[in-house]
Amino acid sequence: MTPANPPAASPRPSACPGLWRIVSARDGGICRIKLPGGLLLADQADAVAVAAERFAGGVIEATNRGNLQIRGIGGDHAGLVESLLAAGLGPRDAASDDVRNLMLSPLAGHDPQSVLDVRPLAEQILDLLQATPRFHELSAKFAVQLDGGEGVAMLEHPHDLWLSALRLEQRDWLAFGLASCPADGQVLGAVPLEQGLALVSAVLERFLDLATAEQSRMRQLLQCCPADVFIAGLGVDVRRDAVVLEWKREATERPWLGRVVQQQGMALGVAPPLGRLTPAMLRGVARVARQWGDGSLRLSPWQSLMLPNIAAANFEQARVELSSLGLLCQADEPLARVVACTGSSGCAKAQADTKADAVELAALLGSGAPGSVHLSGCPRSCAVAHVAPATLLARSPGRYDLYLRDAHLPGLGALRATDLTLNEAGAMLALPTEHLDD
Ligand code: SF4
Repeated sequence: MTPANPPAASPRPSACPGLWRIVSARDGGICRIKLPGGLLLADQADAVAVAAERFAGGVIEATNRGNLQIRGIGGDHAGLVESLLAAGLGPRDAASDDVRNLMLSPLAGHDPQSVLDVRPLAEQILDLLQATPRFHELSAKFAVQLDGGEGVAMLEHPHDLWLSALRLEQRDWLAFGLASCPADGQVLGAVPLEQGLALVSAVLERFLDLATAEQSRMRQLLQCCPADVFIAGLGVDVRRDAVVLEWKREATERPWLGRVVQQQGMALGVAPPLGRLTPAMLRGVARVARQWGDGSLRLSPWQSLMLPNIAAANFEQARVELSSLGLLCQADEPLARVVACTGSSGCAKAQADTKADAVELAALLGSGAPGSVHLSGCPRSCAVAHVAPATLLARSPGRYDLYLRDAHLPGLGALRATDLTLNEAGAMLALPTEHLDD
């Protein structure tokens, strides 16, 4: 039965939105809907659209962890939550809402480059997280990534625990790392696929055994407990030879907007401008998924959506319908290049109206790599979970400092210019990267 009552207080309280934890912002309440591996059925999408109209101001956001949130919620919190629960958008147990943080590729199970289909294991991990009361003590931000080796994969988001599929000696293994990401995190060991669930369970148990209440994330614990010591106490047989420890997850650049080839058929990747959907857009995506796809959607870590299993003959029709609703369906659309946090229209911490500025900047920039320019209203950098190639950090309305990603520097990277207007920032970002070093 779906739980209707809010969960009891957590030992690691969170300020992040949840299903029941509707957080106040300048533009009203925010409710976050966590989706299992990013999966949203078309009927559920319709239910979110209705809820956003009925109980809020109609703004729906795709988050950078493959979830949805509704903004601008009015006073009827109970009505909103009830409607979402009725659509099957809640956790199995009220106390397990926060812990459902498992990221998959939006093309998991369909990607031609994948080593294996991780969806069955993902289901087991989500069951484990929800059914184990002790794991509900984990922070709402504690997150796990399960990477099946897909070509469409976000490999740069740090996770408390990540697992990556690899094939060794004709057998499927899961390499893993802690407090890092598959792109450049250190591989700490591997277990056979059949031991994947046991490994996840052991890592979470060990974390809770060792972490103080102040240590809510793995990176904090590893500052006082070396990774080798952590692994030695797992009670799981972990392979740690050179073959495993020197293995690197191969980075791939498969596009996630527009036509995306599957093992069979194709998927359509679409992005709402600056991560925001109107109810009409979400209904439109649901309608297209029902009519031309398999009735399901996948939310991605790029604040976008993917519609899998679209027949080649129907692809163009599906794309035209979604494009007419204002969704970005091609990587070369200028708005696809920019990412922006909520900004001053909805967040009291913001120094600038980043959403409006991003629209203006996109017109100046033209096309470029999707998501490669990030406008942030303050140093918290909510809009992306990794460092973007270029970050504009607001210092006052309409004025920004420009940082370029640098693997050798912490934080946002190298500071290239300060107090830029949007025109100045646009002119600098339009230059080839080598000229930005002058
Ligand atoms: S990055 Fe800062 S300004 Fe932007 S939404 Fe987050 S807290 Fe608000």
